[in-house]
Amino acid sequence: MSSEKILIIEDEEPISELIKLTLESGGFSNIITAFDGETGLAAARAQLPDLILLDLMLPGIDGLSVCRRLKHDDTTKNIPVIMLTAKSEESDIVVGLELGASDYIVKPFSRSILIARIRAQLRKFTESGNSDEIRYNELLINRELHLVRLGEEHLELTFTEFEILALFASHPGRVYTRNQIVSKIKGDDYPVTDRAIDVQIVNLRRKLGVFGANIETVRGVGYRMRQQAEY
Ligand code: CA
Repeated sequence: MSSEKILIIEDEEPISELIKLTLESGGFSNIITAFDGETGLAAARAQLPDLILLDLMLPGIDGLSVCRRLKHDDTTKNIPVIMLTAKSEESDIVVGLELGASDYIVKPFSRSILIARIRAQLRKFTESGNSDEIRYNELLINRELHLVRLGEEHLELTFTEFEILALFASHPGRVYTRNQIVSKIKGDDYPVTDRAIDVQIVNLRRKLGVFGANIETVRGVGYRMRQQAEY
């Protein structure tokens, strides 16, 4: 059993109930539900959950506004938020990620994906995230030595390629918009643009060979490393 407290903000009761049952069967026993944004915000502040599942289409205060308020409030800004969205809400997904949501899940979602994404966020939150060595399947990245190995092979990457790969590999499954990548890797020396990111990704995939296909393009949103390597 996991003791983490999870807040579900979802206005449709059957969906909320389904998520709750899914989480319970996944070992989560400490679940709070809210059926609109206002109540959800109040519950987040009062109960400080470990993670929030946030539906974007809510009556009253919509999900994006809820996310914005959570991320602007010192008491709640560090709580990971996973957005629950419909496929048609691509532009909202981008906005949500840039507001600080950690991830999103498109409805209808499978049981196992929901649980895996939640576990991944909770794990990330407890890890320091500052480790010098990042492993992702065959890939080994050492920050201190600025070294990348794929299996036995040593890869020569530019500074920007290295930073993008390290960002992706330390957060498998997490989607980054181009703006987020720019702001996370931008060195002090030169500006990196949106378009330049696409070029960097092309080069990075090429250098990684077959393994490069693990860097996925998420259409209309950005890029991510597969949750689990498939190549
Ligand atoms: Ca809804």
